[in-house]
Amino acid sequence: MLEKVLIANRGEIALRILRACKEMGIKTVAVHSTADRELMHLALADESVCIGPAPSNKSYLHIPAIIAAAEVTGATAIHPGYGFLAENADFAEQVENSGFAFVGPKAETIRLMGDKVSAKAAMIKSGVPVVPGSQGPLPEDEEEALRIAREVGYPVIIKAAGGGGGRGMRVVHHEEDLIKSAKLTRTEAGSAFGNSMVYLEKFLGNPRHVEVQVLSDGQGNAIHLYDRDCSLQRRHQKVIEEAPAPMIDPKARAEVLKRCVDACVEIGYRGAGTFEFLYEDGRFYFIEMNTRVQVEHPVTEMVTGVDIVKEMLSIAAGNKLSIKQEDVKLTGHAIECRINAEDPDTFMPSPGKVKQFHAPGGNGVRVDSHLYSGYTVPPHYDSLIGKLITFGGSREEAMGRMRNALDEIIVDGIKTNVPLHRNLVRDEGFCAGGVNIHYLEKKLGMESH
Ligand code: ADP
Repeated sequence: MLEKVLIANRGEIALRILRACKEMGIKTVAVHSTADRELMHLALADESVCIGPAPSNKSYLHIPAIIAAAEVTGATAIHPGYGFLAENADFAEQVENSGFAFVGPKAETIRLMGDKVSAKAAMIKSGVPVVPGSQGPLPEDEEEALRIAREVGYPVIIKAAGGGGGRGMRVVHHEEDLIKSAKLTRTEAGSAFGNSMVYLEKFLGNPRHVEVQVLSDGQGNAIHLYDRDCSLQRRHQKVIEEAPAPMIDPKARAEVLKRCVDACVEIGYRGAGTFEFLYEDGRFYFIEMNTRVQVEHPVTEMVTGVDIVKEMLSIAAGNKLSIKQEDVKLTGHAIECRINAEDPDTFMPSPGKVKQFHAPGGNGVRVDSHLYSGYTVPPHYDSLIGKLITFGGSREEAMGRMRNALDEIIVDGIKTNVPLHRNLVRDEGFCAGGVNIHYLEKKLGMESH
């Protein structure tokens, strides 16, 4: 087993990783910026190291500071969490070249999946269904580009190969706009991601976002942990997630789950990963793979009983998967509400001092949060301050428990999106299940695409 893990992250996920390490008897090193001295997990870690000032590019994104912290504390492995450096192939490479285990895939896998054109090509090779579109990058040749778009059929979406975070995409409804849009997206992608390559896909009108969680040991063994529905999104940011995805065609589901597992074996995937799909009219279309633990991993843990972070740590230590596919039993239903420090109406961040925090409880309620009464949410980072997860024997039971939990939770002193969640868990469409990715923005009266 790993001896000492440096947690290269902050907030709720740092606490989540710390808890898993402690359970497994692994020593922990917490790193933090000068703005984060109050983080709860610092008090629980065996050691903590300040790695720089508040701006993330000088601390949580500053690779030499993190490697140095691992050196001086004698850590043997680094867990990147999500965000920050989690999908930075250069970081993974430097971690391993410096003699530490990286809790995640090999650098080359992160690189392969980080480029959406090469990721899509790898999926096609493994038989994972993808959105129809250009085979590889969209050619610069105008005639050729027009021909491809015509063949795919309008509307189409032009996407940056190096894009992420919902940026670097442009929908094209009419042929006369294609060339201009491709040029614009190339220019934007070049300055935003340092890679101007773009590709083209059919634009699906009303898809759902359904993703598949996998675990793979990089030694030829891979399993899936079923799926999650993350269709309730605002500006491509997930707001509520659930597992399993409701109302999915059973045949299509069985097929896609199998394909994801096969792809993991084929690419020698190591660690936890997520295949993201759009799901429309009973069919799955791959859009990207995330090569890290996801914010919404707890809903999968609740319905499968598998501790994803503990498995990640075990795989990083060189162990084979401890679970076989036939041992994974799907039970009940789980829902997660992301609690953000933000104004529920304007969505503006709302950092500041938490005067009082009261966590909800009861059967089937899980709270993953680093909040405590008196904690000050700093203004420098993501506004996620916690996740409220409920589990039930059925979707209805999980929803009922979420309604209760949201009624019980108290976060005083800062604004949060709890009122929005209270509204959503009583929304008729969401309660019925299976809404598409535009549902929330329509409800909020926003234009989407
Ligand atoms: P990112 O890495 O920036 O999150 P994704 O490829 O995951 O980019 O796409 C983000 C979102 O953009 C999707 O969740 C979906 O809402 C929308 N999107 C992407 N591709 C398509 C498509 N072909 N058709 C319709 N919507 C799409």
